[in-house]
Amino acid sequence: MKIYNSLNRRLEDFEPLTPEQVTIYSCGPTVYDYIHMGNARTALVTDIIRRYLLYKGYNVKLVQNLTDIDDKIIKRAAELDMSAKELAHQNGEAYFEDSQRLGIQPADVHPKATEHIREMIDLIQILIDKGAAYVIDGSVYYRVHQFAAYGKLSNRKPEDLLAGARVEIDERKEDPRDFDMWKAAKPGEPYWDSPWGKGRPGWHIECSAMAMKHLGETIDIHAGGEDLMFPHHENEIAQSELATGVPFARYWMHVAFLKIDGKRMGKSEKNFILLRDALDHYPTEVIRHFLISAHYRHPLDYNQESLTKSEGALRRLNNCLDTLKKYEGDVVKPSETADTPLQHAVHEMKAQFTQAMDTDFNTAQALGAIFTLVSEVNKALSTIDEAVIPGLAHAYQALTETCQVLGIYNMETQNEDGDNVEQRDELVKLLLEIRQDARNRKDWETSDKIRDRLKELNIQIQDSHHNTTWKLITK
Ligand code: AMP
Ligand code: ZN
Repeated sequence: MKIYNSLNRRLEDFEPLTPEQVTIYSCGPTVYDYIHMGNARTALVTDIIRRYLLYKGYNVKLVQNLTDIDDKIIKRAAELDMSAKELAHQNGEAYFEDSQRLGIQPADVHPKATEHIREMIDLIQILIDKGAAYVIDGSVYYRVHQFAAYGKLSNRKPEDLLAGARVEIDERKEDPRDFDMWKAAKPGEPYWDSPWGKGRPGWHIECSAMAMKHLGETIDIHAGGEDLMFPHHENEIAQSELATGVPFARYWMHVAFLKIDGKRMGKSEKNFILLRDALDHYPTEVIRHFLISAHYRHPLDYNQESLTKSEGALRRLNNCLDTLKKYEGDVVKPSETADTPLQHAVHEMKAQFTQAMDTDFNTAQALGAIFTLVSEVNKALSTIDEAVIPGLAHAYQALTETCQVLGIYNMETQNEDGDNVEQRDELVKLLLEIRQDARNRKDWETSDKIRDRLKELNIQIQDSHHNTTWKLITK
């Protein structure tokens, strides 16, 4: 497997620190509001990475934090006349609800910043003891020039770092690049006691402390949106590596933005679509398909047309799987049938799916492989030839397996639909019997009416000398 490592800006062979064991830390939401589709893209990419690693046989431990204390939370809570704690709790619960609706499997641990203040204080103290941090008026700052490798992730030179850092004007800092790890409490704000007085942690120290607490000093994969590379991830590296002396994360993965009208979708841009609103309009699998229809390192544009395309693709996939389901039990040994074109297409699809996902989780190509097989299956179905049946059964297995890795096939709803499918098949059979009776009476009007009405319902019937068969018309 290869992963594009933002740290070295190249594709690298993936080797976890402990064989067969993968640790992942993903920067989660700041819970001051509901999440939008952009946040959902990043969360979904992490979900897919985990699903695929599990499919490959790795043990995976995923940690995704909730930032539940922050300037934005304090400000919004004041506007709404509620406590920061209450607002963060409400939005944290809403986040889990939305993620679940999108089929995102919960992380193994969802640590909250406010429940890890002790660990953050301890980490800050280590940095102070090492001379890498200093205290001014109850706030603690990280001394950037102490960490020679600062800038290695975002590949910025010291002068660029100043320009990009959105540096707060604070004359008291030794160097404008220094950032706060502990903020002295302002009147009316939530605070915790610390060796430096009452205050609260900075955002960057939260992730360093929570990642190391739950996953150890070196984690395999650290993921987040591309906006987090600088300064957030750069600062996480600086804090963690100076404290431990070992690499913090082996592979850094950054998800490109979901855009709308060519601009980043974001809360501050006020151009966002909430995930929960999208889920009220489209099924889970359609939204998942849309969000993974581009490789995660490419920007993706949110628009109606793309979602409509995903809807169409999902309809094609579900029609195909519904039809294939009835052949599920007809698998024979591959050796007996290996040389039919459909069997060949199934092997080809599996190989291409794995190749795509093994190459930096290229979901766009993986979907391409799946939909090529859907077309092959539809071709095979149009022949109504006994010899293709084992291939149909294998295609069903291969498609359900790969679609489940991507989470675009929902077994439970399909099973419910499966009952509908059986009922539909019985109804078509009944209509064909009635039509046959009409033909026997030479009642061509009724016979043609049934044929034409079925066609309008995407069911094509074919008459031969000895019988009549039918198939679904797939677009
Ligand atoms: P926030 O709540 O702003 O801290 O964001 C939570 C996660 O969503 C972070 O990993 C962000 O990088 C990510 N994110 C925010 N906006 C977008 C976007 N438009 N596209 C992709 N990811 C995003
Ligand atoms: Zn983070």
